[in-house]
Amino acid sequence: MSVVSTSVLSERVQRMEESATIKMSQMARDLKGQGHDVISLSLGEPDFDTPDHIKEAAKAALDQGFTKYTPVPGLVELRKAIKNKFKRDNNLDFEINQIVVSNGAKQSIANLALALLNEGDEVIILAPYWVSYSDIVVLAGGVPVLVKAGIDDDYKVSAAQVKAAITDRTKIVLFSSPCNPTGSVYTKEELKAIADVVAAHENIFIISDEIYEYINFTSAHASIGAFPNVKDRTITVNGFSKGFAMTGWRLGYIGAPLEIAEACGKIQGQFTSGANAFGQKAAEYALQADMTPTHEMRKAFLHRRDMVIELLNKIPGFKVNRPQGAFYIFPNITHYFGTSDGKTEVNNADDFCEYILFNAHVAVVSGSAFGADNCFRISYAASEQDLREAIRRIGEAVAKLK
Ligand code: PMP
Ligand code: GLU
Repeated sequence: MSVVSTSVLSERVQRMEESATIKMSQMARDLKGQGHDVISLSLGEPDFDTPDHIKEAAKAALDQGFTKYTPVPGLVELRKAIKNKFKRDNNLDFEINQIVVSNGAKQSIANLALALLNEGDEVIILAPYWVSYSDIVVLAGGVPVLVKAGIDDDYKVSAAQVKAAITDRTKIVLFSSPCNPTGSVYTKEELKAIADVVAAHENIFIISDEIYEYINFTSAHASIGAFPNVKDRTITVNGFSKGFAMTGWRLGYIGAPLEIAEACGKIQGQFTSGANAFGQKAAEYALQADMTPTHEMRKAFLHRRDMVIELLNKIPGFKVNRPQGAFYIFPNITHYFGTSDGKTEVNNADDFCEYILFNAHVAVVSGSAFGADNCFRISYAASEQDLREAIRRIGEAVAKLK
């Protein structure tokens, strides 16, 4: 029952879009609720449960009384474990006071945007990009500048493209590798070339989102912040959601130049305070414990990736990429634009995804949400059985498009 008009809402929120990944997964839930047999490949969330030993650590922490407020940037023991992890896995040197733990990497990125951007500052976002980047930037008053790569470039933006997009308003270069939504992984050489471009501009910062670090099929994750010429201007974002299947725990973190880390702490201290206490204890444990479950999950994702590529390649007109990480695949479906099944016209990726949802009962996300309106994203963090059935249904539905 509406009593107020949306015009009472701030211009800030009116400028924002709802998260397309969350919207699509809700549409799938609603359709399921109406009794339809919907397979949801829309939300980027491991289908695995959090490993038992991490859950046990949280239970033990509860029993030990970790039920109170924590320091805003995170428990010191967790930040020590993160400091060691940054050194061990990424060759990054951060002191404990340069690390801020947040309620998910999403909050880490929002803190950074609020801490760094003035009205009109430009953020170069390497596209396809994770859906929330642009709206977080807009919320903070910044201007997203999308620099795009297509499937023929393996969806990777070159250093020359980054260079060409820099203006005197550029404040940040933001990207994820392994990438959501494409699964592409930037090589060390590609990152070095981007670092060299940024290094020539002393007021530009890099935000490197490495949340899919442990789901990398090349076994060569590289952190751009490890290059000496940008190490003092790179903020490395990471979190527990993907590599440890801990999405619902809401734990992410950054390593950043001290002043930026302190600013993020100040913002977080006014918005949410420290992340939940017993979860942080479990996260501390996760970083130091046996990583076998993480490696097993990675192997399962790799197996599914190969299966999904093989099945998608059998669908005429699909141009399919070969992701090297994360758990997404990002086919190009331009071939189907301008077609119809006699009832529904498909003229863009949004139409395509809607057509698939209502005719195949499979939820996927339109590439338009990620800055690529000729593609769609499948999250293959689902059972092999569901993936096979979903792709069979997609194939059957698109066969009707003429
Ligand atoms: N960055 C990327 C690239 C993501 O895919 C996600 C997934 N939601 C996040 C950040 C945020 O993760 P979380 O807030 O769950 O830590
Ligand atoms: N990162 C995931 C995705 O892209 C989770 C949903 C979200 O936070 O947007 O689907």
